[in-house]
Amino acid sequence: MLDCSTATVPLTDGFGRSVSYLRLSVTDRCDLRCTYCMAEKMVFLPKRDVLTLEELARLSDVFIRNGVRKLRITGGEPLVRRDVMDLFRDLSRHLATGALDELTLTTNGTLLARHADALAACGVRRVNVSLDTLDPARYRAVTRLGDINRVLTGIQAAREAGLKVKLNAVASRGAFEEELDDLIRFAHDGDLDLTLIEEMPLGDTGQDRSETGLSLRHLQNQLAARWTLTPHRHTTGGPARYMRVAETGGILGFISPMSCNFCALCNRVRVSCTGRLYTCMGDEGSVDLRAPLRHSDHATLTAITQALKAKPERHAFDATRLERPAIARHMSTLGG
Ligand code: SAM
Ligand code: SF4
Repeated sequence: MLDCSTATVPLTDGFGRSVSYLRLSVTDRCDLRCTYCMAEKMVFLPKRDVLTLEELARLSDVFIRNGVRKLRITGGEPLVRRDVMDLFRDLSRHLATGALDELTLTTNGTLLARHADALAACGVRRVNVSLDTLDPARYRAVTRLGDINRVLTGIQAAREAGLKVKLNAVASRGAFEEELDDLIRFAHDGDLDLTLIEEMPLGDTGQDRSETGLSLRHLQNQLAARWTLTPHRHTTGGPARYMRVAETGGILGFISPMSCNFCALCNRVRVSCTGRLYTCMGDEGSVDLRAPLRHSDHATLTAITQALKAKPERHAFDATRLERPAIARHMSTLGG
């Protein structure tokens, strides 16, 4: 007999794309204020608007029962939420049953040293750590608040706990281009993959992105003059293209939403910490899941299924219009 608590009905959007990957934001708060992500003075949500731990766990259960195989916890900074490790402990049961292939997180790394062992104990195998520079002064300038030593200690702790670490760096014009060779060497010498991300025009940060935005096509051409890059078949099913760097033996990823549209393969949706479902990062549209969640799992699934029918075929970022945000929400609402 069919067990309805475990039966899976793969979630599919209106273009026939299966949705097997959920990015769940657990907070909009952060201990940093990266210049490309947030304004210097941010107003955060009142805590009462944020889903409780139980709601986050139940919402995840609904997605997992219906075909989500990969779950990434994000933020804001997920590790600033006090009870986040309880959520990881709760979600780890889906790894134990085989319902979930991967439970992971994206973090700025400042609190990773404190949590690395517990994350590994919950079955987390890989973490993405955001690091745009190795220069302590520039790290401080980019993050407005950060101490790079805490991130480096966090990466070390994660490695010692047996976690695979991937570095994410948002590409920008100027110093980033000059320092990139050092970042590549640092990553690959430490057996860390590195992925470069094009800056996306999300949210007003008080800065003009047309002055900082850097096309990864352009950057890749620059890199190809100094490094031997060959396309690599490595894939995470996501939007990144990968290159092997012959001189280091390491892998370099390129996520280019502005200069290269990858939507045909999109397998993901995002939920904000208030329970709003976003089927496309490059679209303002979202659907409330909190009210249905407070009603029943069935109502939640119905709301998800209906929202997926309206998932856009592709995002509409325009690389020639960076001076104003294309989308009002900040990246920290959904966590990338
Ligand atoms: N706080 C965590 C962190 O920094 O890793 C998780 C949330 S953060 C919003 C997720 C990723 O989005 C980070 O790698 C960050 O560098 C990236 N990001 C933030 N704002 C961005 C933007 N405007 N364009 C592209 N990537 C951005
Ligand atoms: Fe915080 Fe991450 Fe945004 Fe930086 S990118 S301000 S660490 S949420």
